[in-house]
Amino acid sequence: MYTASVKPHLVIIGNGMAGTRLLEELLADAGHEYRISIFGAEPQLAYNRILLSPVLAGESQQSDIQLHNKGWYSRHRIQLYTEDPVIHIDTDNRFISSASGVHLAYEKLVFATGASPVTPEPLRHNKSHHIHQFRTLNDVSQILKSSQTAERAVILGGGLLGLEAAHGLNKAGLKVDVIHRGPWLMNRQLDETAATLLQATLRKRGITAHSNCQMEQIEEISDQQLNISLSNGEQLQTNMLVTAIGIRPNIQLALSSGLDCQQGILVNSQLQTSVSDIYALGECCQLGPHTFGLVAPIWEQAKALAAQLKGHHQQHYQPSPSATQLKVAGIDLFSAGDISEQSPDTDAWRLEDIQQGTYRKLFFKEKKLTGVILYGGVSDGQWYFNLINNQQDISHLQPDMIFGESFCTQKPNSDLHTPLATQPETSAAHAFQNS
Ligand SMILES: Cc1cc2nc3c(=O)[nH]c(=O)nc-3n(C[C@H](O)[C@H](O)[C@H](O)COP(=O)(O)OP(=O)(O)OC[C@H]3O[C@@H](n4cnc5c(N)ncnc54)[C@H](O)[C@@H]3O)c2cc1C
Repeated sequence: MYTASVKPHLVIIGNGMAGTRLLEELLADAGHEYRISIFGAEPQLAYNRILLSPVLAGESQQSDIQLHNKGWYSRHRIQLYTEDPVIHIDTDNRFISSASGVHLAYEKLVFATGASPVTPEPLRHNKSHHIHQFRTLNDVSQILKSSQTAERAVILGGGLLGLEAAHGLNKAGLKVDVIHRGPWLMNRQLDETAATLLQATLRKRGITAHSNCQMEQIEEISDQQLNISLSNGEQLQTNMLVTAIGIRPNIQLALSSGLDCQQGILVNSQLQTSVSDIYALGECCQLGPHTFGLVAPIWEQAKALAAQLKGHHQQHYQPSPSATQLKVAGIDLFSAGDISEQSPDTDAWRLEDIQQGTYRKLFFKEKKLTGVILYGGVSDGQWYFNLINNQQDISHLQPDMIFGESFCTQKPNSDLHTPLATQPETSAAHAFQNS
């Protein structure tokens, strides 16, 4: 129930990674001037979604991944509503209504509603309890429950998330097949050579990849058995299926409230939506052509939005290249920047040791490093990533750069010594340290 207060009321919709990071940024430094309420659709307190993969793999406990306890919210006088989605917004009169019947007036409103997994066509109306998504703590509990009586699992999607799910179930003792529509695993982050090395390592562990094909049909042939037909004619029998084929920003509430949306809720570089005093950040938002699926850019958005809300209007958010790592024990893989060789002005350098199972590839454009792939030995990843973000002319270092930071910085005339060694770490590095 709304009670009168001299402080303006800030309402945040979504108690996930973005909403929580925004709270943390608002509480940092000089603090803020708001009375804050935050609504979460999930029953749990906010948790680190990235760590769902180690929870599935039995490497972390559910209790380890909670971000803040109830005391933290009350200490900071944040009114938290869990398992209570906001279902209606009256933007003319500035109030929100939740599923449980809470009505609150607001002065500033933030969408941090995240994204939902895409459901593939053959599963649209399938309610089998052997079919799972991999997005929430509840999903992980369901997957773990199913895996206890299963011997085989199929994962739909050979991207980052799909492979982390495959690893988790494989660690639980299941034989796993991965169906991937792309030409090779993680084709957005890896080239064919790196993906082939990855696939060979996975195969040794009992994870078989089926690339370049799609699931055409799924049948429940018994209480414990699903049969999956692939577009290449193969048939896979399995006890459970986990889908991880991508995400779609949660924009339904924004759309029904009259906010401009395309794929995501449209924002400008100040994270403002098309309606005044309403903002959006995280996986639900879209800035120009960009939508978001990793936490590094979301941390930057949270910082910029907190500054905006504190009245520092000069703070803007600009998208920058991001880096990815696979959270699968024993597999070292790093990819950052633009790894496509489409344009004629892109140059690529490769270093490969098939015996050792190591591989690296660097991409250059106009004398600048624009992308990197590292497989089996990723210690230079952060150095390359800083170079991609710096965008300084590094043509004098080609081809030495392929051998890594210590090789280049030990060269007597290297001007990479001081400037780059002292570069502050970028946001992505921060994200990985935190994750
Ligand atoms: C298994 C897994 C592993 C990942 N690993 C990595 C990784 O290694 N590195 C990386 O950078 N990223 C990773 N990600 C992606 C990362 O977790 C997301 O980018 C991040 O969680 C997005 O934050 P968000 O707040 O926008 O969305 P979310 O964290 O999904 O939070 C949105 C919240 O809003 C709630 N909500 C939606 N609608 C409403 C409503 N109407 N009212 C109230 N609440 C609502 C949702 O229930 C949800 O709790 C991973 C994701 C998953 C699923």
